[in-house]
Amino acid sequence: MLLGAHTIGNGGIPMAARRAGRSGMQALQIFSAVPKYYNDKVGVKPERVARFTEALAEAGIKPEHVIVHAAYVLNCGTPDSEKWARAAGGLAKEFERSTTLGVGGVCFHPGAATDGDRDAAIERIAEAMRRALAAVPEGTTRLLLENTAGAGTTVGRTPEEVAAILAGIPKSQRARTGYGLDTCHLFASGFPIATSRAEQKRVLDAFEDATGEPPAFFHLNDSEGALGSNRDRHMRIGEGLIGADAFGWLLHDKRTKNIPLIMETPQQNPEIADDDDTPDAWDVDSIALLRTLTEHSATT
Ligand SMILES: [Zn+2]
Ligand SMILES: [Zn+2]
Repeated sequence: MLLGAHTIGNGGIPMAARRAGRSGMQALQIFSAVPKYYNDKVGVKPERVARFTEALAEAGIKPEHVIVHAAYVLNCGTPDSEKWARAAGGLAKEFERSTTLGVGGVCFHPGAATDGDRDAAIERIAEAMRRALAAVPEGTTRLLLENTAGAGTTVGRTPEEVAAILAGIPKSQRARTGYGLDTCHLFASGFPIATSRAEQKRVLDAFEDATGEPPAFFHLNDSEGALGSNRDRHMRIGEGLIGADAFGWLLHDKRTKNIPLIMETPQQNPEIADDDDTPDAWDVDSIALLRTLTEHSATT
């Protein structure tokens, strides 16, 4: 079980890796640049790669078990051609930085069809992915879509939409792409993952059947919003409306084995000093809870 979190990045990504290691995590998520900007001109210097790689090794975390989360501002579905060009450029740079860092994957929110034409948005997202793949011709890092909470005109909510985007990737490049599922987004967008083990399995089956593959990562987030509320508000595991039992079912599904399982949940001390690698107490508690749920027998 590769449990991890998007640990606090104060002091830079080597510090995020140290905090994860000290929290007993085997996986990690980071930003490769400030996520509120496009960062379409930002590269990664070799010294930064070296320091990060060294910190990961000390933490006992394999680079392939690290996910980079792309900037939130990238909307590769927008019908505005100027904005699209910047978003596509930003995505290609995210992919380049992630590949340079040697991580397993970079995940991104597909975007929104602000004019209501979802099919056109799906095509534009696929085009942005094709450009990113062409801009970074080699590497083991994968470009991964994340399902959305379904607010507004965002696309990538359903198995069909995720599959339709991935269907736009040429066969020769398809293995360099994939998708991940966020439990809060699934629940908020109306998928009954907390109703019963069988219902939850049907949801995961639907994504696997539509795309032809299992997810490449999970985001383990409990949800403040109700089923189908479309609210993207993460809560600590067991403290939201999904509840600990549903996470227990998920951890017993074979699709959560050997892929990064990343919490993006509130932390106790987000203002931690840059040079302080003390693990966050809430992250540590949640990792312990998830371990307990993993060890619990799968009877219910
Ligand atoms: Zn997420
Ligand atoms: Zn979210």
